[in-house]
Amino acid sequence: MAHTQRATWRNWARTAAATPYRSDTPRDLQELSATVARAAADGRRVRAVGGGHSFTPAAVTEGVHLHLDHLTGLESIERFDDGTAHVTVGAGMHLYALNALLAAHGLAMRNLGDIDKQTVAGAISTGTHGTGARLGGLATQVVGVRLVTAAGEVLDLSRDERPELFELARLGLGSVGILAAVTIEVVPAFRLEAVEEPWALDDVLVELDGLVDDNDHFEFYWFPHTRRALTKRNNRVADGEVAELNRVRAWVDDELLSNGLFGLTNRLATLVPPVTPRINAVAARALSARRFIAPSAEVFISPRRIVFREMEYAVPRAELPGVLAEIESWLRSSGEHVPFPLEVRFAAADDLWLSTAHGRETAYVAAHQYVKMPFKRYFDAVEQIMGQVDGRPHWGKMHWLDAERFGQLYPRFADAQRVRAQVDPDGVFGNPYTDHVFGDRHSHG
Ligand SMILES: Cc1cc2nc3c(=O)[nH]c(=O)nc-3n(C[C@H](O)[C@H](O)[C@H](O)COP(=O)(O)OP(=O)(O)OC[C@H]3O[C@@H](n4cnc5c(N)ncnc54)[C@H](O)[C@@H]3O)c2cc1C
Repeated sequence: MAHTQRATWRNWARTAAATPYRSDTPRDLQELSATVARAAADGRRVRAVGGGHSFTPAAVTEGVHLHLDHLTGLESIERFDDGTAHVTVGAGMHLYALNALLAAHGLAMRNLGDIDKQTVAGAISTGTHGTGARLGGLATQVVGVRLVTAAGEVLDLSRDERPELFELARLGLGSVGILAAVTIEVVPAFRLEAVEEPWALDDVLVELDGLVDDNDHFEFYWFPHTRRALTKRNNRVADGEVAELNRVRAWVDDELLSNGLFGLTNRLATLVPPVTPRINAVAARALSARRFIAPSAEVFISPRRIVFREMEYAVPRAELPGVLAEIESWLRSSGEHVPFPLEVRFAAADDLWLSTAHGRETAYVAAHQYVKMPFKRYFDAVEQIMGQVDGRPHWGKMHWLDAERFGQLYPRFADAQRVRAQVDPDGVFGNPYTDHVFGDRHSHG
């Protein structure tokens, strides 16, 4: 097994860093369980890291940092008569590898987020989601997990096998053990027709229910300081339908507008903040309408080359228009300059204990700020606005809430705390972030 002593680790957004006592890359399940048991016996905390794409210090540890680069293989595919399948993969597999693997077997994830750089374990552990009013986040697609406990025990968990522990293992910030494998319910491969169009924000809000309910996947980006939005409607198409995107056009929209030119506009806004509203107005109009058809994963996933900071809150869907109005009013009165669009997505209510969509139809509102611009005042204001409608923060994106508040926001939070305390009384799988989130008090180093 590869060991590294005291090497500094940093996340993608450079908002979290750690100098772990040791970093280990176990070669297989046996080495993983032995490493966890030894670290726990030595009184060290243990944390696995995925793709490092959380903005919160979720994956940080001063103890033993585990990299599951060798637990990335396909274990099994169990197919069912209706075309769905249960696919078991190593928890360290990246989503891009999972998507390629599924495509090779004529399968696909039901829904995905915007990027594919996360690992399967990392993505589900923080409640990563995409958009779709009839769909849940990635963890809702998980039907089983293999978990390594502090004693080095290996447990296979599902809704039938230790259901309470399964709850926290599939969406619990890695707080009950290390995931070694994950079983995901997937569907036959499908293609999506993507229709991207700039709209007036007022029209989006007037048509909102229809847009959200009548499309498989609807989202929009609102350009702050303007009344313009970029809408995205992705719907399943029957086999055979083709609408190729002109390659130059695809490159212009994805690479130049979404990433290259966008990088320039952000740098300009950093240098001369007061020009931000004009830049946003131009950017919102520069994006033209386009339509294309492609395999689902290609439509869901976009490159993200501009580094930013992000806060995202899940609010009851009906509260969305009021929340956007409050943010707009704060931007106007504060004079804050925000060159980055806000992203708005949707999800069905689900019953996962720590899912941000637990028990309610949800709208997600994500606020971003360019890496070189200050974000604290903007995010503080957004957090305060979200608090008024019982918003729940994404576990992997910036927020400043604590266990007391989570107890009010999540009906099953006390159960989550109880299960966590039972299975890991010494806090081996905790870190300062999870101590804060769960209200734990431990004296580990
Ligand atoms: C550019 C960008 C785009 C994003 N887009 C979206 C989006 O569209 N939708 C969305 O919801 N989120 C999005 N996110 C957030 C991201 O999906 C989450 O933060 C996710 O958790 C990151 O996964 P990761 O593999 O990088 O995990 P990490 O950030 O490395 O870890 C996340 C958590 O998982 C735990 N963990 C990792 N591996 C294991 C394991 N084997 N066992 C137990 N615990 C483990 C870690 O300890 C940590 O607590 C985005 C983030 C970025 C930077």
